[in-house]
Amino acid sequence: MAPIPFDRSSIDTVIFDFDGTLARLNIDFEQMRREVASVIDRWGVDSRSLHNRFVLEMIGETETLLGNHSANKAASFTREAFRMIEAIEVEAALNGALFDGVKELFTELRKVPLQTGIITRNCEKAVRTVFPDIRDYCPVVVCRNDVQRVKPHPEQINLALSRLGGTSGRCIMIGDHPIDIETGKNAGTRTAGVLTGHFRKEDFLQAGADLVLSEAPEILKRLRPELS
Ligand SMILES: [Mg+2]
Repeated sequence: MAPIPFDRSSIDTVIFDFDGTLARLNIDFEQMRREVASVIDRWGVDSRSLHNRFVLEMIGETETLLGNHSANKAASFTREAFRMIEAIEVEAALNGALFDGVKELFTELRKVPLQTGIITRNCEKAVRTVFPDIRDYCPVVVCRNDVQRVKPHPEQINLALSRLGGTSGRCIMIGDHPIDIETGKNAGTRTAGVLTGHFRKEDFLQAGADLVLSEAPEILKRLRPELS
């Protein structure tokens, strides 16, 4: 198969993940999982049956199970669980920071010109804690509060693209987790993994990424080769 071209003629929109891709938040997902499990158990659902799931999916499945008996109970549980994880996310955000060069990256992408968006499973409050002036740099930010179904479902990319007036065929999704690659594929975008999170090049190639970058700002060299 011919290599997929990555240049200004084939890409007009770049969508980034947030945590681990543009910023370091150091969320303790194991602590979050333990605390969510204890809330789930307290609401009468056996959390051990959900131990292989990501935290948001644990909450979603428990909501469905409780909702089979009582919509009110399901809604109360979900409010409590989200209050709890938001507290952990905002606490992590207070100790987090944008990676070097991220603001410059958005400024340079705008000059190309390329459209940009950010999609994240995190909550808006935590994102704004780390990056208060985010809208000055990136016009479209889709957090979990903005959609029904988060990554790896394509809804977040689709919403970002519709707000930007972009199309998946001319978009690249960049993230630090194989779930970001899966999300891009589900939406029909090109995909790139970055090594600023906890995954290695092989993990992204196995996930089917079109490209692996050492860090997000490296995409500029691909889309503006005259800079390299
Ligand atoms: Mg991430």
